[in-house]
Amino acid sequence: MHAAMTRAWLIGAGPGDVELMTLKATRALARADVVLVDDLVNPEVLQFARADAQVVYVGKRGGHPSTPQADIVAQMLEHLRAGRSVARLKGGDPFVFGRGGEELQALQAAGIEADVINGITAGIAAPAALGIAVTHRDYAQGVVFVTGHGAGSGEPDWAALAATRMTLVIYMGMRRLADIAGALLAAGMSADMPCAAIESATRPEQRHVLAPLRDFADAVARARLGSPAIVVIGGVASLALAREAAKRDAGSMKTLSVGIGCRLHSEAADIDAAVRAALGSHDFEQIGTVATIDTKVNETGLLEFCSRHQLPLRLFSREQIAAVPVASPSVAAHAHLGVDGVCEPCALLAAAASDAAASTHDARLVVRKTAHAGVTVAIAAANHAAPAPHPAHQDQDLR
Ligand code: SAH
Repeated sequence: MHAAMTRAWLIGAGPGDVELMTLKATRALARADVVLVDDLVNPEVLQFARADAQVVYVGKRGGHPSTPQADIVAQMLEHLRAGRSVARLKGGDPFVFGRGGEELQALQAAGIEADVINGITAGIAAPAALGIAVTHRDYAQGVVFVTGHGAGSGEPDWAALAATRMTLVIYMGMRRLADIAGALLAAGMSADMPCAAIESATRPEQRHVLAPLRDFADAVARARLGSPAIVVIGGVASLALAREAAKRDAGSMKTLSVGIGCRLHSEAADIDAAVRAALGSHDFEQIGTVATIDTKVNETGLLEFCSRHQLPLRLFSREQIAAVPVASPSVAAHAHLGVDGVCEPCALLAAAASDAAASTHDARLVVRKTAHAGVTVAIAAANHAAPAPHPAHQDQDLR
């Protein structure tokens, strides 16, 4: 018996995103001879395990039957008694609906000390991924973590929970969602109560549904949302709606189209400086599109500028550009490209191509042609696009 030399850890792997694992968890994992991995643990976290560690999956997903709890404990004890250190990896936090409590008791009963390493539980991380603060004080005095499963200690008393007026965070609740919603409504909870379901939170495949309580179960079914998912019921769920609206607004603020005319081999830094000079007091974040003539399709500096700022580059043909009248034609542009100007027509064409406009008649120049470091820039917006956020910008409006 080498119990004194061996180590046992009950480790929370967090909700999914590997970066949400704690330093302590990664360090313990790096020491273990054997790693017993649960359901819902992102396999990517095994990058922190030793290359020669023995990895055992004991979860019920992936078509395999889950290992009975007693067998898991027996396996742990066997390895520990053979002198091997054991990391027991669980999704989220090991002590939140993870049976970590039972496993610790079993190890203790066998005379083995295990370290518990907390993880970020899905019940906090999943709402947070949508901007929901589960105890936001404008909405709730507390939060209740509850299982929707109904097994083990029996069915939660939904009427009593509704009466607490606290945020309800439901684990394992997807299969019984209609019953749960029905019970809460029957208990007098408002049919308008905001609800959220978040599937595979903090993973790339994360999806969610937001709906008032009266439609919630149907909306979740229609979206075919399934396990694993966290359900949030309470005023705080409206924070997710507020965030979605803010995101939409941010998107609709990208109302400016920047037309660029540049010499061959212009540097990204010069283009950047020219665009910023032309913007004046307009916000760089308002730029939605960059546009130029299609002969510049391989201009490295321009491509670099666009990719650095994650801006789409629209290209227009000589014919398209020639069809847009320019107030003061450029002799140089005419000599090189056969058009009267590039930046102003391109800005207008790009603005006209946006959702808010039907033709270049629906677009206007916000900033006329400016030249800087050999780069010409003009800025246009669709007439129906949201106005610039600061009234001070209106004086630049040279329509
Ligand atoms: N110990 C875990 C919970 C285990 S119970 C923790 O602290 O997070 C399993 C339930 O957790 C699932 O049914 C689901 O409700 C929730 N869950 C776990 N990971 C999740 C994720 N990435 N997204 C949404 N829900 C998750």
